[in-house]
Amino acid sequence: MVDITEVKLGSIIEFKKPHPCGGKQWNVLRTGIDFKLECVTCKRIIIISRLDVTKRIKKIIEEK
Ligand SMILES: [Zn+2]
Repeated sequence: MVDITEVKLGSIIEFKKPHPCGGKQWNVLRTGIDFKLECVTCKRIIIISRLDVTKRIKKIIEEK
């Protein structure tokens, strides 16, 4: 299990399943109850609940 309290603004995180564009890495734009994430590959922005981040995250690539 990844400790998502380690995920900070500017962190790059990797999900278990890829985005439709094929990318798995996300740039963290906002943390809190909901997370705002930007796909590193296609730059699309999503808002996702903290619980869903906890379920989907595979690892933290880069901590800021
Ligand atoms: Zn994407």
